Amino acid sequence: MGPKYIFITGGVVSSLGKGLAASSIGALLESRGLKVTLQKYDPYLNVDPGTMSPYQHGEVYVTDDGAETDLDLGHYERFTHARLSRDHNWTAGKIYESIITKERRGDYLGKTVQVVPHVTDEIKAALRKVAHSTSSGQADEVDVIIAEIGGTVGDIESLPFLEAIRQMRLELGPENTLFIHVTLVPFIETVGELKTKPTQHSVKELRGIGIQPDILLCRTSRPLTHEIKAKIAMFCNVSEDGVITARDVGSIYEVPLALADEGLDEKILQRLRLETQTTDLKHWRDLVHRLKNPAGSVTIGVVGKYVQLHDSYKSLGEALVHGGLAHNLRTEIAWIESEGLETEPNWPRQLAGLDAILVPGGFGKRGIAGMLRAIRYARENKIPFLGICLGMQCAVIEFARNLCGLPEADSTEFNPATPHRVIYKLRELLGVEELGGTMRLGAWPCRLHPGSLAAQAYGTQEISERHRHRYEFNREYEETLTAHGLRFTGATPDEIYVEIVELAPAGPHSGHPWFLGCQFHPEFKSKPLAPHPLFRAFIAAAYQHRKRAGREAVPVAFKTASSS
Ligand code: GLN
Repeated sequence: MGPKYIFITGGVVSSLGKGLAASSIGALLESRGLKVTLQKYDPYLNVDPGTMSPYQHGEVYVTDDGAETDLDLGHYERFTHARLSRDHNWTAGKIYESIITKERRGDYLGKTVQVVPHVTDEIKAALRKVAHSTSSGQADEVDVIIAEIGGTVGDIESLPFLEAIRQMRLELGPENTLFIHVTLVPFIETVGELKTKPTQHSVKELRGIGIQPDILLCRTSRPLTHEIKAKIAMFCNVSEDGVITARDVGSIYEVPLALADEGLDEKILQRLRLETQTTDLKHWRDLVHRLKNPAGSVTIGVVGKYVQLHDSYKSLGEALVHGGLAHNLRTEIAWIESEGLETEPNWPRQLAGLDAILVPGGFGKRGIAGMLRAIRYARENKIPFLGICLGMQCAVIEFARNLCGLPEADSTEFNPATPHRVIYKLRELLGVEELGGTMRLGAWPCRLHPGSLAAQAYGTQEISERHRHRYEFNREYEETLTAHGLRFTGATPDEIYVEIVELAPAGPHSGHPWFLGCQFHPEFKSKPLAPHPLFRAFIAAAYQHRKRAGREAVPVAFKTASSS
């Protein structure tokens, strides 16, 4: 028997949290012992979001196999155990690319290539492709595939995707497919009422293209009364118990519990005729209890260039929260625009009072001087520091310039003519030519030095982390930098690529509590139920710093929630 499909569509407006709904449903089904995987279909024409501006798209999430994907895949991996790959994110551009390649090759044997059936067949093939194996390569059977269709019903671009899932229902039958529509039931202050009309219109639109939703997830700020549910059910042709209140909650990690309280998982199982063990949500309840009852807090300054749009650093923000959760601490994030540190005369004021400083990834020269200032400030004032990708590269530049007598040290990304290219395009020199450029993408192994901050954090010496960058540390400068107290504590097993730098505790900068830069993106692998080792260690150092600065008492030991 093949897997069951849950198709998630959205109506009325965008940003209703379809991705979180999909992830939460995944978590609920896993809690019943089912094996799930998730897919995202994006109706736009870019082949992937890799070339899109963070302001347009938010974060580009990277999978182990090096796919540059939609940030919803980050939620899917954080909420479930699904291992995702390039087969789990399809854009219209990627579907068309594959069709046009086939057409040029003559695969269509002289036929006219059309949206129906060729585009829809390609989409259905993508839906089937993830049924039998996970990206880890084992031939595991998946019980349920949750496919989220991006965009809003009514968009021209979404039509082929909706048509494909309509056909899937026809082919597989109602016991194997489920349509969940996420919609909005707004509360209108002036009349003090919840309004169902937008939902009615959205479902009408969906039914007009042949899809009758089975379940409506109604995003709303107040609980839906029996009357409202009955009204929605009647006008939308959905049974009343298929109308679910998806109320606003304080934290995204409460969503699975809120949906379970509405009996959503039961209803899904009934409709898909799945028999499972009873649900075990204890770990989620514990997590939410810890979120709501922190024993203290830390404030982390994130000095980046896309800080106005927090979605640009989605996984980073979550990983910092997870690092806090590991110690029962609430993580407050102070988003600091790096260019602001360049222009404001009294810029140190913006960094005062932070418990730690983080410089995240990014591309291009804008804002680099501000990042270098923040790093120097963290180094000199012995404030815990984590540099990720661009942040690690900047830490190396700062160190070379201010401690090694190389004031013009730079990355060739910012100054191609620098006499001291401490960061450069190593892969270009190595002649590594890859489709789509010389970006180092996806999971790479890394070996850690015993006794390093990194090895302490991970508790092991062999790790694998995800990458997305073009530039690398230039090992010709290793000796100079080491002599001045930087240490290189992680590298690929072939020793070609430097992956981690730290301040040596016994070097000229001894006494710095925690200063680490990594070339990879640890934030992509952090989960609320399994905080990433580097974020756990970083937040611990931040909290120590906070206590040293007299800003916080020692936390009481964390007590687990009474398992309710
Ligand atoms: N711009 C840098 C590079 O390409 C860093 C990239 C990043 O931070 N993701 O190497």
